Amino acid sequence: MPNTPDTLSSPTGWRLDHSYARLPQSFHVRVEPTPVPEPKMVLLNRPLAETLGLNAEALDDAAIFAGNALPPGAEPLAQAYAGHQYAHFTMLGDGRAILLGEQITPSSARFDIQLKGPGPTPFSRRGDGRAALGPMLREYIISEAMHALGIPTTRSLAVVSTGEKVWRQDGGLPGAVLTRVAASHIRVGTFEYAAARGEKADLQALADYTRRRHYPEVEGGYTALFEAVMERQAALIAKWMHVGFIHGVMNTDNMALSGETIDYGPCAFMDAYDPATVFSSIDRNGRYAYGNQAHIAQWNLARLAEAMLPLFHDDEKQAIEIANGLISRFEGRFKRHWLAGMRAKLGLFTEESDDTALIQSLLDWMRDTKVDFTNTFRDLTNGRIEPVEWHQRWSERLKRQPQSASEVTELMRRSNPAFIPRNHKVEEALTAASEQGDLNPMRRLLTVLAAPFDHTQDWPEFSEPSGLESYQTFCGT
Ligand code: AMP
Ligand code: MG
Repeated sequence: MPNTPDTLSSPTGWRLDHSYARLPQSFHVRVEPTPVPEPKMVLLNRPLAETLGLNAEALDDAAIFAGNALPPGAEPLAQAYAGHQYAHFTMLGDGRAILLGEQITPSSARFDIQLKGPGPTPFSRRGDGRAALGPMLREYIISEAMHALGIPTTRSLAVVSTGEKVWRQDGGLPGAVLTRVAASHIRVGTFEYAAARGEKADLQALADYTRRRHYPEVEGGYTALFEAVMERQAALIAKWMHVGFIHGVMNTDNMALSGETIDYGPCAFMDAYDPATVFSSIDRNGRYAYGNQAHIAQWNLARLAEAMLPLFHDDEKQAIEIANGLISRFEGRFKRHWLAGMRAKLGLFTEESDDTALIQSLLDWMRDTKVDFTNTFRDLTNGRIEPVEWHQRWSERLKRQPQSASEVTELMRRSNPAFIPRNHKVEEALTAASEQGDLNPMRRLLTVLAAPFDHTQDWPEFSEPSGLESYQTFCGT
């Protein structure tokens, strides 16, 4: 996609284009943010702002990040989409988010600039279109941590408080608006929406747009596009597994075609290794449990394939056959990424057929002894050895590859984080910020999480597991 917006760069660095708005009418609705009484900057991501080409003047403006004023060239809209939420199909759309446009960066990359919590849209149904400060800060912390961990993700540019209360089950909470930056907000649910409306031309326009925007290198028909999407999802979920990340609400509207992690509601990082780990208060059957994420990704991709059937073949029966063939290859793709990452976590450069068994026996030991996932790999990295018998096998395996001990350590340090967002540290930072207005714990936490692979630091309070045995998370409404 040529990244030359019709608008020139403004003095503040805003350079917004609107390629999504040029999709057929059914995909978007123009809507203005609703002003808030008292916008105050709470967090601002200066390094990200710089990448986007925004200068200090642009950043001084809490009014813009609250939706009270629009940046030059903005054409705000809400996106239409559908989604399977816990396996139930629903028409959704941006009920509490407004896209201001796509910022073209100095290096000609294109990023959606979206306000989350800017007031009602035509898709708000009975919701208020608003967001509470706690969950928006939580998204900021976790998304920035994911970025530092090297995992594709939407980013957080700013959080402003609104001076207004939002009313939720637990009473009045301080309101906030988050500015989310994303490669795009095209979701599996966007395709489901187009398919449900039954306009093949619109579906095709969306698929062509997705290819131009995210997969320009992909040649061939729509099946090739689908395979490329599937490949990125397989890689993404494997990366989550490697750091113990549990998304928590992998509904199809929360799966981005770009391959970025999106929608930080009830997500959290696992402490003790257990594939059945679930934090979300509403996930009673463990649908989105840690160990079920690859399976759910495949399920979601099956919904995408279903939506794309008319693009695969004019004859439905043949289209279904093609889709089934494609989907059946997800598991193999995921396993390949998973195994590659696990080998790196154990310092393995070469491949042996017994590697899966070696990895699995470590994981089994971890589950049986309920040890911390992150710290076990951290200890192995730093020569603090635990499972004695297994360790023998691992050392022998390491000896069968040509790499030196220091090369092994180097690889392990790059592959095993020393610091992840520990649940109790996240909660502590959120409580201080939203109840006492004290941002210091948050700033400290963000600093630690910005360098997760720094094995030279020893900060026990940031590396100890939370001990919050029945930790629960909630959808960020
Ligand atoms: P999420 O749980 O953030 O993935 O949201 C699911 C759907 O509910 C999306 O369509 C949101 O736009 C909508 N939604 C969530 N919270 C609100 C709210 N406070 N007001 C209006 N719509 C909302
Ligand atoms: Mg969502």
